[in-house]
Amino acid sequence: MPKSQTREHICPECGTQAKEPYKTWELIAPFPDKKMRITLTIFGMYEC
Ligand SMILES: [Zn+2]
Repeated sequence: MPKSQTREHICPECGTQAKEPYKTWELIAPFPDKKMRITLTIFGMYEC
């Protein structure tokens, strides 16, 4: 199991640290990488 990452939530508007995103969605890469891993990117929308 990979280490769980702790990521700060940064408001894209002003760059300050924000609270939990009020909306998130996941984008899964359509193809696996060289190591046959699927890249999952989580996007979030923030308000601060
Ligand atoms: Zn902001």
